[in-house]
Amino acid sequence: MIKRDFLIIGAGIAGLSYSIKVALKWPDANILVISKEGLENSNTQYAQGGIAGVLPCSNDAINRHVEDTLIAGDHQNDQKTVNMVVTEASESIDDLINWGVDFDKNITGKYDFGLEGGHSKHRVLHHKDFTGKEIQEKLLKQARDLKNIELCNHHFALELITNKDKEDPRVIGAYIFDSKNEKVETVVSKIVFLATGGIGQVYKTTTNPNVATGDGIALAYRIGANIEGMELVQFHPTALFAESGDRAFLISEAVRGAGAILRNEFGEAYMEKYDDRKDLAPRDIVARANLNEIQSSTIPFVYLDVTHLQDGKFEDHFPVISAKCKELGLDLKTDFIPVAPAAHYLCGGISVNRRGKTSHKGMYACGECSSTGLHGTNRLASNSLLEAVVYANQSYKSVLKVYDSIDFEENVDDFWHPVVKKNLSLDLPLAELRKKLQWLMSSYMAVEKTNESLIIADKEVELISKKFEQLIKEKSYTIKSLEFRNLLSIAQLIIEHSLIRVKNSGVFFNKDL
Ligand SMILES: Cc1cc2nc3c(=O)[nH]c(=O)nc-3n(C[C@H](O)[C@H](O)[C@H](O)COP(=O)(O)OP(=O)(O)OC[C@H]3O[C@@H](n4cnc5c(N)ncnc54)[C@H](O)[C@@H]3O)c2cc1C
Repeated sequence: MIKRDFLIIGAGIAGLSYSIKVALKWPDANILVISKEGLENSNTQYAQGGIAGVLPCSNDAINRHVEDTLIAGDHQNDQKTVNMVVTEASESIDDLINWGVDFDKNITGKYDFGLEGGHSKHRVLHHKDFTGKEIQEKLLKQARDLKNIELCNHHFALELITNKDKEDPRVIGAYIFDSKNEKVETVVSKIVFLATGGIGQVYKTTTNPNVATGDGIALAYRIGANIEGMELVQFHPTALFAESGDRAFLISEAVRGAGAILRNEFGEAYMEKYDDRKDLAPRDIVARANLNEIQSSTIPFVYLDVTHLQDGKFEDHFPVISAKCKELGLDLKTDFIPVAPAAHYLCGGISVNRRGKTSHKGMYACGECSSTGLHGTNRLASNSLLEAVVYANQSYKSVLKVYDSIDFEENVDDFWHPVVKKNLSLDLPLAELRKKLQWLMSSYMAVEKTNESLIIADKEVELISKKFEQLIKEKSYTIKSLEFRNLLSIAQLIIEHSLIRVKNSGVFFNKDL
């Protein structure tokens, strides 16, 4: 059994910011941060556009950012949470800058605030078009420099450990599979901080990397924590169209912010038909518009036109996107970029209060795995990195008050069953089940749903679940089968919450309502 003062599950922006905060405050505390694969494999790493925020130097106002967040979220947001996050943005962005994150400046030496869909002002701080990579690298460096942070890659959180008190449930640690040494560790901790990121991999086409399987949400669900808003899956309107591939490459919203125009197969700019804000309407509106155009065309994508932006600045601002298009043989001076919607972001998740606390004592959740109420029913572009870093700070402030009074739980089952094998690849029947689940979710539970599609998805996922149980009975667990079990829980939660919804709002759209 291992004892650590803090157990932080996840090494993206949420987990790393929190670890740095607590490490600086308590130099004698031992802080364990784990990631299930490489430390840089996270949604954070792939963020392109940037982080939204009103700074003292901005030509902007807090109430405008609040208003834009509420409009994007269809006014279903928690107003107090929106006010808090937008107000705290400046302090948390300062933290990132102090930890070495470099945001682009213009020739006058002032921050180069970008514009994105749904924002009424230029307010997105960025590092070219690889802001996430910049954040991930600088936070990792900061965490590595702090002696009391232990960073462990290839450590997979299998299950949370709770005390035995049903009246006063408390999370006291987790069972963790150390892939390198092929053994399950029992980690007991004073604070468990869930920062496991998104769920995109439950869909066939997603911008999320392979680690985004909703593990933290599934773990929390299994111990009975409150989970909400799982029907609120945001589809990004402009992922690069590809016939195959593990992860859909994103064409950032910032490209439309810079003036790109969506066109259909006949070259017509169509966004005016759907919204006065045209190409800069919030994501839910653009995603449905793109789907509608695709459904009434002969090709499975629409186009993003950046031909009029090729004055040299575009490639400088969007080097990664430009290189990717070049790699595919597209000449951006003459060719349009083929794009289609892809699963991108979960607005719901583990329910937390404004201090990041979950329904269980000792357990916090932060970042994409959490549901704070900030996004309402549709996240405003570049508000998720902001939410993660603000809530890491909120959770830190909350622990400040109680840390000294928390002790390790002594009554812990140092016991994990069943045996877990390292085998990192899915064996064939499981690989097929995973593909089937992803296909099903993309076919029946994506941008537009119907009453019938919900019922089909519900029944089919149940069948997949039964097949999985049969397969598992015959074999010992592998990490990949445990991960698939989490994906199944996520799919079931998305369907269950979608069936309950009686009104369309934001990213949730059932044609029959
Ligand atoms: C392509 C793309 C572009 C984006 N662009 C933007 C943008 O411009 N602006 C913006 O605000 N947002 C953007 N987002 C969303 C944003 O990047 C994410 O919401 C945010 O980075 C999530 O951070 P996180 O720390 O919560 O999770 P992540 O960064 O995903 O980190 C999750 C961590 O949890 C670990 N983990 C997961 N399960 C387990 C387990 N069982 N055991 C151990 N470890 C585990 C992973 O290994 C990883 O280290 C983008 C997302 C994508 C995919």
